[in-house]
Amino acid sequence: MDGTLRCARCDRDHRHQPAAWRCQVCAGPLNWQRAPGPWWRRRDLARRPAGVWRYREALPCLEPTAGLADMATPLVPLDVAGVPVLAKCEFCLPTGSYKDRGAAVLIRWLQAAGVTAALEDSSGNAGAALAAAATRAGLALTVFCPASAPPGKRAQIRAYGARLVAVEGPRARATEALLAHAEATGAAYASHLWHPLFLHGVKTMAFELWEQLGGVAPATVVCPTGAGSILLGLHLGFAQLLAAGLIRALPRLVAVQAERVQPVCQAWHAGDATVTPATATEPTLADGIALPGPVRGMEVLAALRDSRGMALAVTEEEIADGVRQLGRAGLCVEPTSAVVWPALSRLHQAGRLPTDGGVVAILSGNGLKAVGVLADLIEPEGAPAAP
Ligand SMILES: [Zn+2]
Repeated sequence: MDGTLRCARCDRDHRHQPAAWRCQVCAGPLNWQRAPGPWWRRRDLARRPAGVWRYREALPCLEPTAGLADMATPLVPLDVAGVPVLAKCEFCLPTGSYKDRGAAVLIRWLQAAGVTAALEDSSGNAGAALAAAATRAGLALTVFCPASAPPGKRAQIRAYGARLVAVEGPRARATEALLAHAEATGAAYASHLWHPLFLHGVKTMAFELWEQLGGVAPATVVCPTGAGSILLGLHLGFAQLLAAGLIRALPRLVAVQAERVQPVCQAWHAGDATVTPATATEPTLADGIALPGPVRGMEVLAALRDSRGMALAVTEEEIADGVRQLGRAGLCVEPTSAVVWPALSRLHQAGRLPTDGGVVAILSGNGLKAVGVLADLIEPEGAPAAP
């Protein structure tokens, strides 16, 4: 195990607790740091297989496993109100979401730390990604899931052989049940929200974009934002490329939330340094980003400032329209991912998008994961034609 796990709040060193998921002194989130190693050249990379471990110099020194994140996701051109946009199709990863990147690195890290059984709380995509990575690593995973989670997502988690514990009540109850179980059994918490190695897997999205664009950074990247895993991963990756002299500037990062659950947007527009958890929230179509209290809220706001970015929130009607517009462009995504479409439209109307290229939108999750919701959003079929 290399590098140091260090608390983002009190700087406490956790290098001897590789399975720690948060600071054992102040309960703050941990960061993973290691001395910058020699960086690759693009022509060196061209000879390597695609996927997360292609960028091994920026990851922990672990023997890569042949896994589920050993592929690049396509960049598909879109036209949003006349503006050329490239859709980064992260929903093409094997479990149907970008979370395969984070799961690959986190599970490999825990495996190297000697963990053989771990816990996770999730209502969907993270549980599936971690379950799939865990089964390939021979690691037993138990997923605490709200009983109200969509049956398809629960079935997907179980299909990978994970044990599923359905917990009645709101999402927070699943976390409470997990923590009680961890306390009683000493099992490791493979948290996609807390563990920093998950973000280091997600950051490979930035390296891949840089390669796909011919060795430059995009001008703007628009991404769905709940806990901020995509945004923080992109910021980590592009900041490392900048420090290595491989790009000239960070892309402008744009965080998109649903109006009904928008603590990051509210903190951003108030000019706050921390995110105050939202108290009264309503259900939203974008359930994957409906997080009232992101654990790394302070880091999300700092990444937005550092990249000269911004945060904006979109309505339920706009999200539904985004699903339909992306469908017409050949891309069937979860409503959570479709928030990027109205965000792009609004940025264009405000004159805040470059019209000469360099705009990337992250499409994080496959539409088939939300098939019940999707059926309600798509216009009913017309009456059958008369014979
Ligand atoms: Zn601390």
